Amino acid sequence: MRLLEEKIKTDGRVISENVLKVDSFLNHQVDPSLMNEIGKEFAEIFSNEEITKIVTIESSGIAPAVMAGLHMNVPVIFARKRKSLTLYEGLLSASVHSFTKNETNDISISKKYLNENDKILIIDDFLANGQAALGLVDLVEQANAKVVGIGIVIEKSFQPGAQKLIELGFRVESLARIESLSNGEVLFINEKVK
Ligand code: 5GP
Repeated sequence: MRLLEEKIKTDGRVISENVLKVDSFLNHQVDPSLMNEIGKEFAEIFSNEEITKIVTIESSGIAPAVMAGLHMNVPVIFARKRKSLTLYEGLLSASVHSFTKNETNDISISKKYLNENDKILIIDDFLANGQAALGLVDLVEQANAKVVGIGIVIEKSFQPGAQKLIELGFRVESLARIESLSNGEVLFINEKVK
């Protein structure tokens, strides 16, 4: 998605060979007009999947997921990370190791928001090793609902997450695919020198 790639080039900051910071439009301050375009794009890409709900994870997945939900006219559920929630009954839970925080969190969704007739689109801001997406898949499958696609805003294609999810048979659609973050620069797959 050209608009997103341009925004990453101008406003993204390469923190290391593995981490990109996009705090000015996605992870802290949010650019609503860009989120709207992202939501529209996801709605178009997955228009033939008869999606009934979108599932994401707090907090950075919420903005793009809500915009996608608006364009697809379906509800959006975000998995919560707060541990205290696990004290309550009626929760689906999974463990997720966080790439950026290097800690493991329990994530959960109330059972009442997912059922076996649901066709779910999972959305997240970044895809690195695939742990967050796999945790969300786990929650959806615990509810006997079906994951029909995984929509990612920024995929770091040099990390194993995308490949892992594709090998498991999931449809993965990423709006920006990063080939490398070497030398402090973002290189997208589609601008790779052949
Ligand atoms: P994974 O679970 O695929 O290893 O990592 C995805 C999660 O880690 C995302 O939910 C995202 O919040 C965070 N993440 C992974 N890589 C990056 C990155 O380069 N920059 C930022 N800001 N977040 C990242």
